[in-house]
Amino acid sequence: MSSISEAGVVAAVDKELFIGGKWVPAAGGKTFPVLDPSTGEALCEVADASPADGVGALDAAVAAQADWANVAPRERGEILRRAYELLIKRADELALLMTLEMGKPLAESKGEITYAAEFFRWFAEEAVRIDGGYAVAPNGTGRFLVTKQPVGPCLLITPWNFPMAMGTRKIGPAVAAGCTMIIKPAAQTPLSMLALAAILAEAGLPEGVLNVLTTSDSGGVMEPLIRDGRARKLSFTGSTGVGRKLLEQCADKVLRTSMELGGNAPFLVFEDADLDAAVEGAMTAKMRNIGEACTAANRFYVQRGIVDEFSRRLTERMEALPMGRGTEEGVVVGPLIDEAAVEKVSSLVSDATGRGARVLTGGSTVDGPGNFYQATVLTDVPKDARLASEEIFGPVAPITPFDSEDEAIAAANDTEFGLVSYVYTSDLKRALRVSERLEAGMIGLNQGLVSNPAAPFGGIKQSGLGREGGTVGIDEFLETKYIAVAL
Ligand code: NAP
Repeated sequence: MSSISEAGVVAAVDKELFIGGKWVPAAGGKTFPVLDPSTGEALCEVADASPADGVGALDAAVAAQADWANVAPRERGEILRRAYELLIKRADELALLMTLEMGKPLAESKGEITYAAEFFRWFAEEAVRIDGGYAVAPNGTGRFLVTKQPVGPCLLITPWNFPMAMGTRKIGPAVAAGCTMIIKPAAQTPLSMLALAAILAEAGLPEGVLNVLTTSDSGGVMEPLIRDGRARKLSFTGSTGVGRKLLEQCADKVLRTSMELGGNAPFLVFEDADLDAAVEGAMTAKMRNIGEACTAANRFYVQRGIVDEFSRRLTERMEALPMGRGTEEGVVVGPLIDEAAVEKVSSLVSDATGRGARVLTGGSTVDGPGNFYQATVLTDVPKDARLASEEIFGPVAPITPFDSEDEAIAAANDTEFGLVSYVYTSDLKRALRVSERLEAGMIGLNQGLVSNPAAPFGGIKQSGLGREGGTVGIDEFLETKYIAVAL
């Protein structure tokens, strides 16, 4: 690591738009700054795409689609495999770049690079397993041929919290399926995606298959592309509010959609749980990504007999977490993404304490520079506190006691979200009973981390539509065609 400098990794990134396999400036040479959330200072400027640049990217994706769909699945898979290997080889540089633009500690950034790369490895393997069918029609005379084809040019939009993995989770299956694409990373973290585009080009991805638009005007650039009709799919990861708006826009031309939206994960701890494991899992589910994860435990419901002991142990662990710039050795609590995020966390904590919650540790912002908020544990959090229904997206663990299993499940399900729920219990029957009753697309059963490229990731209710990863992930980028055969 010592040979890698901060300035060096930023300087190494191409900061123009990537369209039709070429790096090109935005119309009029416009740029916008990328800030380091731990200092508030600009790291560099990147190209600021206009709606016209967006149309140029769509033209390139549309032009490349037919040839790309005809590239052999094995070759598509091998491009992904080469990109996987390059990501792993350059993990240290890429991790530093990610920490600089997003703030998370270096070890977590490195973990994300590996996680991101694994999507390429997984979909390299899936590219050659796209299946079909041949069947005798019920009347015995006809035959059914079923085949799968790429959806067509796709629009991909990703958030700032996992700047690389949220991209590979879409690009991997799109490449494997034979789709071309335009990806628009969040304005706050464009550098990881630009670095990824260069790696894919180096791995042999043909011109026009992947196009990258960085812009400070996400709505202005993407809405015309959604309404254009030539792109056939939108895959979005981000907040439920923006997701709703994009679904409305997609309705116009009936685009296929995949929506990975917000979460409000409950974390249930029953009296029969292994308490050491529950505290460990709570730390992972809460503090991964400084709490800025859609999967972050947002509400802790702990059975009354163990709530004091659980709270004491969690508080001890949270108090001990070193805070600082993500590049510093040993730091666990990095900065939040921006000032607005700190203000939101502060206002949710004030609201909870105003309604009777008690602060066991933390509970304050930290003087700048940088957007820091203390690792916080709140107890006796009333059910009507805002943070019981809103995503905190920060390092705050609110604890509420419960008495019965039914009460815990009702509280856990009392949300418009349904991404993930965590359950800690040593009773197998309870574990399965509760898992089945929880309204969530994913359950962490005695574990605080569910993300895995080989598993179907996604939510129900207002947490989204569709699944990413696993054997179903590629289906989001394929259309099923049935050919009725008369014999
Ligand atoms: P966001 O504000 O919804 O933004 C997500 C992406 O959408 C960004 O690239 C953003 O670009 C873009 N965007 C915003 N408004 C848009 C518009 N009108 N048209 C087109 N694009 C638009 O979410 P965020 O704050 O970046 O991310 C945090 C949210 O993502 C949380 O709610 C979290 O739970 C969710 N998330 C979900 C998952 C999942 O898998 N379910 C994973 C990670 C995160 P700009 O920022 O440049 O405007």
